[in-house]
Amino acid sequence: HQSSGSGSIKPIDARSVHRICSGQVILSLATAVKELVENSIDAGATAIEIRLREHGAELIEVIDNGSGIEPHNFQALTLKYHTSKLADFSDLTRLETFGFRGEALSSLCALAEVSVTTCSAAHAVGTRLEFDTEGLITTKSPCPREQGTTISVRNIFASLPVRYRELMKNLKREYGKLIAMLQAYCIVATGVRISCSNQIGKTPRSMVFASPGAETMKDNVTAIFGIKQTQQLMPFVQLSSSELTAALATTDAGSSQVIFPTFKITGLISKPMAGCGRSSTDRQCFYVNGRPCDMPKLSKVANEIYHSFIAGSFPALFLNLALPSAAIDVNVTPDKRTILLHDEKELVLAFKTCLSAMYEPTRSTFALHTL
Ligand code: ADP
Ligand code: MG
Repeated sequence: HQSSGSGSIKPIDARSVHRICSGQVILSLATAVKELVENSIDAGATAIEIRLREHGAELIEVIDNGSGIEPHNFQALTLKYHTSKLADFSDLTRLETFGFRGEALSSLCALAEVSVTTCSAAHAVGTRLEFDTEGLITTKSPCPREQGTTISVRNIFASLPVRYRELMKNLKREYGKLIAMLQAYCIVATGVRISCSNQIGKTPRSMVFASPGAETMKDNVTAIFGIKQTQQLMPFVQLSSSELTAALATTDAGSSQVIFPTFKITGLISKPMAGCGRSSTDRQCFYVNGRPCDMPKLSKVANEIYHSFIAGSFPALFLNLALPSAAIDVNVTPDKRTILLHDEKELVLAFKTCLSAMYEPTRSTFALHTL
């Protein structure tokens, strides 16, 4: 090994920089599919079909009936930091789309073979485009297509040998994460039909799931996980701020006055009764303003309270946290799964207090039954 001080400092060539950065945006099969599905939803699609081959390792194809892409945008589509969704940095505080950084397609080009077929309303015939690893168009030809866009991603990670080997070694697990992630989108994307199929070898494609794009989260949960799951859930009930303050006054936390931020939690969570929980956290979907994300602190609180009713059991939950967009920062990690919340401590406390208030009446019923 050469010591780091002995050589001169040189720039990394642009190609390598692109590949290094892209590998940080597209971390896994699941993030690749997530980015494509988010683009379809952003394009106003009401039907999205995901076709996988070899669990996505050979092919990920996302077909939508959204706006399509205008010819004048073809080349900018796959250029790094090119987006149609955000023009000015101040727009970040009133974000209404999943995407805004213009990194996904550019990164996918660096990590896989990408082709796009698209047709916008203004055009009678579609266009098929192929891209090289730099995101430059290599072929462009007319192609029949109804309005919408199909994006195909072949042989993902084949250019990153270590990640490719890891992917192939853990393909089933990575595929499991992909499906769970897609289901989280199906549940929150009301009015958007989403289906997923997988083809292995020469066997026919088999349907993994199909969501009808129902009008409520509850109906989507039923469509994806079955009516039994829905029957085990109850609606989340949010206390008003005066009720929260009153509930807290009886606890230690209430000894100092807490100012609660503006928020609204809606959705469903397991009833605190035997047979309603799960043996793991496999069905916990948190959303912030409709964006699926990880909320480890809220998850921990929900699990702890649930354990106090049924030891070793975890709640299923599908909860959306509505917050003023100026109170959140989704730009923390490249995959946007981590969201920074202002007043997080107060939100966690409010969540805990609401959940206890919802669940406690059941505890006394429990006690009566066991008398
Ligand atoms: P971002 O979503 O952050 O803008 P992407 O790299 O994911 O960045 O996409 C770049 C641009 O390509 C988007 O801003 C959008 O204009 C266009 N685009 C991508 N996918 C689609 C799609 N399925 N339908 C229509 N336009 C799309
Ligand atoms: Mg995007």
